[in-house]
Amino acid sequence: MTRSLSYWGWGFEDAAIDEGARQKLAMLLSTQMDVSNLSPRVPTAVDALELPASRDLSGAPITLSTAPVDRARHTHGQAFRDVVRALEGDFSVAPDAVARPADETELTALLDWCDARSIAVVPFGGGSSVVGGVEARFRDGVPAVISLDLERLSGVKEVDVTSRAARIAAGTFGPDLEAELAPQGLTLRHYPQSFERSTLGGWLATRAGGHFATLYTHIDDMLESMRVVTPRGVIESRRLPASGAGPSPDRLMLGSEGSLGIITEAWMRLQVRPKHKVSATLAFPDLYAAAEAARLVAQAALFPTNCRVLDANEAMINGVGDGQRSFLLLAFEGVDAPRQPWLDRAVAIAASVGGVVAKGQAPQPTVEVVADEGDDAAQRWRKMFLRAPYLRDGLVRLGAITETFETAVLWCDFPDFHRKVKAAATDAVKRICGSGLVSSRITHVYPDGAAPYFTVIAPAKPGGGVAQWDEIKAAVSDVLLAEGGTITHHHAVGRDHRAWAQRQRPPLFTAMLRAAKREVDPHGILNPGVLM
Ligand SMILES: Cc1cc2nc3c(=O)[nH]c(=O)nc-3n(C[C@H](O)[C@H](O)[C@H](O)COP(=O)(O)OP(=O)(O)OC[C@H]3O[C@@H](n4cnc5c(N)ncnc54)[C@H](O)[C@@H]3O)c2cc1C
Repeated sequence: MTRSLSYWGWGFEDAAIDEGARQKLAMLLSTQMDVSNLSPRVPTAVDALELPASRDLSGAPITLSTAPVDRARHTHGQAFRDVVRALEGDFSVAPDAVARPADETELTALLDWCDARSIAVVPFGGGSSVVGGVEARFRDGVPAVISLDLERLSGVKEVDVTSRAARIAAGTFGPDLEAELAPQGLTLRHYPQSFERSTLGGWLATRAGGHFATLYTHIDDMLESMRVVTPRGVIESRRLPASGAGPSPDRLMLGSEGSLGIITEAWMRLQVRPKHKVSATLAFPDLYAAAEAARLVAQAALFPTNCRVLDANEAMINGVGDGQRSFLLLAFEGVDAPRQPWLDRAVAIAASVGGVVAKGQAPQPTVEVVADEGDDAAQRWRKMFLRAPYLRDGLVRLGAITETFETAVLWCDFPDFHRKVKAAATDAVKRICGSGLVSSRITHVYPDGAAPYFTVIAPAKPGGGVAQWDEIKAAVSDVLLAEGGTITHHHAVGRDHRAWAQRQRPPLFTAMLRAAKREVDPHGILNPGVLM
């Protein structure tokens, strides 16, 4: 059975939450904030969608789709501001057409054709960008825009079992990639929350961060080499385990967000599927105590797969805890041996700074696992983690603002930084929305710092959700930079973070990036306006 994708929100239509679940969400929301002014949003019927007329693309070397629902699905990413605009029927920046090249030959022909006519090309993987990365805001300044959907460049093409790596086409979605590797007992082990609807090419182009909290956190760490098609030719790096031969071509292309070329495939380092998993959950009086435990665990070179801190609100939203205490979720996975001693050591470290193993959630005995094992809280967390985007859409339909922002900062600055960012977000939410909830967690930990992640849920004023969120986001982004953090740890730059990324980046480096772009994309057709 072919499953139908939502044109306005996350994932598959058949997985969206139903009216009953939406009512429960509404009840929950009303216990946390003033929802008297909410205006529920109803998706426009597919046959009533209004899009700007497609401009002339006759003579294109490959078939282009101009079907309204196809163009609508390729208009926005998946941030709150995208979902709201799609729900409200705003497709004013729709691409003129969607192209799906079958192979590199078709892709090159299309790029050449677009290059000769200054037609903009926006690479599109899963379209899960939350930073305006796939959105043609520049539409009116170019002759036409093509959304370049890479879904037909898909599949695991070759596996090198000896070096434990695989050549994988860029348009391969997370679940397909893992399903193809599984029979050989191998895995890429990269699980962003958007795993279900994002692609390898998108992960590489945005330097995505996966679920695992330490060691191999970003997709960068798993890349061996890649192949990129540009309007000026192909760049293919050499497969090597490591190299000191000057600046790395891969490092320039990682995070280039479709502005320097189209990633068509990559050799990715694989791992053997883990057989042993253990986990434990510890409670702390507040987030700062839990963060201190996470710092000590991160610096003990134990490398847990999960070392996630949840503040009291975040824990409650995700069905872990009672809204009073903060939690540290710890998990270890082992390929060749049980990891209980590592877990015991991490629990002892966390207990030494006040962590208490949560009642009824004591570390489980080590088990041979095929599927998810471990303590209840960790399992509830994992389930909520993957279901969250559908719930997010349910809240947006109710008329709420619901969005996240994330960053990273050194441990020496962490407590002060976190307090200031949280205060700025809370103040902005109160000032702009009247009431609301700001919760936070730490998604990744490093020996020298942490990646805090914030969730905002607030009532939107009728017709004002996007503008209200933009104001909150600008207020917190200014504080992130002023207090020494990064504008993004893993959500990428796109168009929404560009102004702050430019402030964060050394100006001379921006000039170098521009020079690189001029070389590979002299007519500026590739995803204009992202990054720089
Ligand atoms: C609910 C939700 C949860 C998320 N969770 C995470 C998370 O845990 N970790 C994380 O890092 N991100 C997360 N994101 C953000 C997003 O999923 C990532 O940025 C992801 O890497 C994008 O992959 P994609 O295939 O959907 O790319 P797209 O959204 O289609 O594209 C992203 C950018 O990359 C470019 N691009 C895409 N494919 C290519 C290619 N082959 N060659 C060149 N450029 C290309 C696009 O032009 C665009 O600029 C989340 C988003 C949502 C909506």
